[in-house]
Amino acid sequence: MFDRLSSLVIALTLIAIAAIFAALAGGDPLAIAMMAVAGFVAAATVYGAMPAVTADNRPAEIAPAETLPLSFLRHPDFARWVDQEKEPLLGVADNIVAIANDAAIRLLGRHIVGADIRTAIRHPVATEWLSQIDGDAPLDTINLVDYPRPGQRWTMRIAALSNGERIVFLSDRSAIDAADRMRSDFVANASHELRTPLAAILGYVETLQDMNGEADGPTRHRFLSIIEREARRMQQLVIDLLSISRVEADRFRRPTAKVDLAAVVRHTISQLQDSETARAKDIVAKFGDEPLPMLGDEAQLGQLAHNIISNAMKYGRPGTPVTVELLREGQRARLSVRDEGEGIAPDHLPRLTERFYRVDEARSRSVGGTGLGLAIVKHISERHQGQLDIESEQGKGTRVSVTFPLAADA
Ligand code: ADP
Repeated sequence: MFDRLSSLVIALTLIAIAAIFAALAGGDPLAIAMMAVAGFVAAATVYGAMPAVTADNRPAEIAPAETLPLSFLRHPDFARWVDQEKEPLLGVADNIVAIANDAAIRLLGRHIVGADIRTAIRHPVATEWLSQIDGDAPLDTINLVDYPRPGQRWTMRIAALSNGERIVFLSDRSAIDAADRMRSDFVANASHELRTPLAAILGYVETLQDMNGEADGPTRHRFLSIIEREARRMQQLVIDLLSISRVEADRFRRPTAKVDLAAVVRHTISQLQDSETARAKDIVAKFGDEPLPMLGDEAQLGQLAHNIISNAMKYGRPGTPVTVELLREGQRARLSVRDEGEGIAPDHLPRLTERFYRVDEARSRSVGGTGLGLAIVKHISERHQGQLDIESEQGKGTRVSVTFPLAADA
């Protein structure tokens, strides 16, 4: 349309026309003045309506704000936030993926940008949900079961914005589900472990009651021995269950007391040697008097040493040595226990520290094992920043070792 210069020309022309009309009207000074004012008002109106001219002679851009749709997804802060998010996040406009962060691209592939969100997240529940929700739907969470692979679970949340834009958040719940499964498996396993000896105890007590005092001495003695053995098995299981829950509760509390690892191991060995354990005499301690100070929980370190040494006694061949060594390795101390037993096949090694995992269940039960010893060892080791290693050669024997950081001034 007109620029400001032309509006000025128009204004002057209007004044001139007004003056001519005034002259034609008889040269009345009032009429001339009124015509001039009207000309000025007209010129000012036209002038005011003209866009301002910029230095390079182009009209400055004045965005008519109410006509441009507000885009949250195109805001630079949004792109920055999306990139910082660790979990998959998608910005969707009219069901088309407009923006996807790195985690989303890793999960769904680069091709999803520009694709329909329903084909990008290939899950029937997600597709149905995305087809149903309207623009004002509140933030909601849905479960994507067996996604992206069987046995895994993700959740999807959608924040609906204006103009058909949405933010889709995806979150991996598989690890949380696995932890929940482990917890319920643990309760089921513990109950099963307790039920077995309890059933034996009740069975023998009922038999003795049925015999109404008629059982001969040796029979009664045999039954009572079984009852005692099963009751002790239950007692050990309860002790181990309490230990594991205590150790787990302390998991994030770093020990602050200074203890001498050498003294702790020496004390554990003498306790085992003084006990009635069949192989007490087979323990060979190969370490000197040098103290090995570290930050630790004395009772827990004693339990760790006890569990490793008693395993070597249980699973080593009778009459062969159970060698306990303590070494200083730079700023760490190593406790290592070696036995001469049947050893462990390599595929079992990674699972030995799982609760209730046993290579040979009958063997473990016959030597009074609960299946919790190495799980307790692992937790105690982790709490003390220890590194647990189990090496084994079938037919030759096993070596279990743990290294711990020594105290800073040791
Ligand atoms: P358990 O109470 O059954 O001994 P642990 O948690 O202490 O439970 O050990 C788990 C399993 O690891 C044992 O059942 C046994 O099969 C195996 N194991 C542990 N230590 C040894 C070892 N020194 N030699 C051979 N097998 C071992």
